[in-house]
Parts: sequence; C-alpha cells; structure tokens
Amino acid sequence: MKFLVTGGAGFIGTNFIRYLLSQDDVEHIVCLDKLTYAGNYDNLRIFENTPRFSFVQMDICDREKIFSLFAECHFDYVIHFAAESHVDRSIENPSLFLQTNVIGTSVLLDAALKYGIKRFHQISTDEVYGDLPLDRPDLLFYETSPLKPSSPYSASKASADLLALSYHRTYGLPITVSRCSNNYGPYQFPEKLIPLMITKASKNLPLPVYGDGKNVRDWIYVEDHCTAVYEIIRHGKDGEIYHIGGNEEKENLEIVRLILEKLQKPQNLITFVPDRKGHDRRYGISSEKLQKELGWKPKTDFVSGMEKTITWYQNNTEWLRRIETGAYRLQY
Ligand code: NAD
Repeated sequence: MKFLVTGGAGFIGTNFIRYLLSQDDVEHIVCLDKLTYAGNYDNLRIFENTPRFSFVQMDICDREKIFSLFAECHFDYVIHFAAESHVDRSIENPSLFLQTNVIGTSVLLDAALKYGIKRFHQISTDEVYGDLPLDRPDLLFYETSPLKPSSPYSASKASADLLALSYHRTYGLPITVSRCSNNYGPYQFPEKLIPLMITKASKNLPLPVYGDGKNVRDWIYVEDHCTAVYEIIRHGKDGEIYHIGGNEEKENLEIVRLILEKLQKPQNLITFVPDRKGHDRRYGISSEKLQKELGWKPKTDFVSGMEKTITWYQNNTEWLRRIETGAYRLQY
C-alpha cells in the first residue's frame, strides 16, 4: 500500500504518519506539505533515513507539480489533511482558506481522478454543522445533519467535503470523508487552545479565555483520530461520511482550570478576553455510525489524554523554543 499524506508536517498529519509507520502493510508513505507557519519539518526529521518514508515540499494548489507527483508515484491511498486550520486566522484572511482548502482539494481530486487511486480520504471537521445551543445537551449532529458553517474556515471545509463527495457521485472516485471533533495531543501548534494554555501557564503568563469560557467542544486524543481514519480507509464504504468523536464534551474554562491544576499554577492566571466573532457555542457529534459499522472506539479518556499531552509539552521544550524563536521555519 502506497500512501500520500498531505499536511503531514502539521499536528494531526504528523501523528498519523507515526501511526502508519507502525503498520506492517504500509509499503511507502509520501508526505506532501507546503510547510506554512503550521507545518513543522522538525516533526518529521526523525524519519529522514526511514526507507518507507519520503517528504516533498509542495503546495496542493500547484496543479502541475501535483499532477507530476501522482504520475510518478502511483498512490493507492490519498489521505488529505493539508489545510489552513485556525478559525481566528480565517476571520482575518478568508481568501487564503478558500484557496488552500477548496482549490487545493480540487487539484488533488483531479489528480486522483486522472491517475487512479484506491481511496481518497478527505479529513474534515464537526465545525461544518455550525453550533448547538448550550441548554440542549441532548442534541447531537449526525452525518445527515444539514451543513451550517459559521466561520470562513468551516465554510471552506464544508465546501471541500461537498466537492469530494461530488467526485464520487459524478465520476465514481472512491471517496470517504471523516468529520472529527477537536483534537489534542503531541505536536499541536501552540496557537490552539490546549497547547497555548499549557505553554502560557508553564511561564506563569495570563491565560486568555474567550468570552465567558463556557463554549463547549467535544475532545478527542489525536491517536484515537488516527486509528479511526485508518479503519475508515480500509473498511469504510465509498461515498460515505463518518463522524469521529471522543465523547468528551468540555467547557473551555474547565480545560483551562484542569491545566492550571495539573501544572500546580494559580487559577487567577485566567484572564477573560473579548469573544471571537461568531464564536460557536457548542459542538457535539454522534460517532455511533463508525462504532456500529466499523467497530471503532476511542481508547483514551480526557483526563489521561491531558496528562500525556501536558507531559509531552513539558518534555519537548526545545520543540516549543524553536517555534517561539521561528527557528523551525528555517529547517528544510
Ligand atoms: P495544522 O494546521 O496543524 O496542519 C496543517 C498542515 O497543512 C501544515 O503542515 C501546513 O503546512 C499544511 N498546509 C497548509 N496549506 C498547505 C498547502 N497549500 N499545501 C500543502 N500543505 C499545506 O492542522 P491540523 O490541526 O493538523 O489539521 C489537519 C486537518 O484536520 C485539517 O484538514 C483540519 O481541518 C482537520 N481537523 C482538525 C481538527 C483539530 O482539532 N485540529 C479537528 C477536526 C478536523
């Protein structure tokens, strides 16, 4: 099995590559990444001498280069993680999100169609459904729920999903889509909630919490996301969407408090800041379909996942330092 993993220098992609390399039937992995600010070659350097792994720095929007790569490599599986992924940045610069997340996806789909693949897997997010009210914990999103994205980020992901599914219907391209809840774990860029709070708390800096901190997200340990994707690409049905959730809904404030407690820091480091524009209140998804049809279940509960995550950041201060100084960008 030959894999193309796009966005493999980012948070989830890099964890997924580690997971793939632990599987014996994976013959070769090409990681394709543009190395934007969110892509960190430090994450992959350890595989430089791994014969089953190679890296190409490339933009998914570069049609000519993408087509040449597909012509040369004959991939069986394309796992498409590459994206602009930070909601705040999408509010500042929506067009970059449309370019990468929609146009970039269309280039990959066209290449997959031209050169043939066994499966194209589109990595997506629960954010495509918009939000749920806080006072209705009984409500969840299902794979059939209507799309109602709130931010330019989620709108671009919803568009890419629809495009991918249209390539299945129109051209019979073997597509699967997964929509996952919020991931946490090793290698997450420290602009996202959990690593941001861990790094700030470690330095006794104020922890900025949006609004009243009562926004709710479902959290999944990144390794569980990786195992789910691997199940879907091997046993999922073409043209289907699968939810991947951790069944761990938490308020942002609860998470920040837990981090302070684990790091033995004072709770008064919490500082409330003006809310994000259009901030979604609650995400909640049902991953019953994946559990019933493919027998997948998340293995890591939130508290032990957070302990592993905090320990990872404490043990990888050099990784963080290279991000903070910008040295990680001069790496490849
Ligand atoms: P990330 O921002 O950490 O990584 C994205 C990677 O894509 C980076 O390595 C970046 O260099 C690369 N990239 C960006 N633009 C590119 C381009 N034009 N060409 C090639 N590479 C490019 O993101 P992440 O958190 O690892 O998310 C990966 C995927 O999972 C995204 O599609 C995201 O929408 C989805 N997702 C993330 C979460 C989450 O909680 N992080 C939850 C659900 C779904």
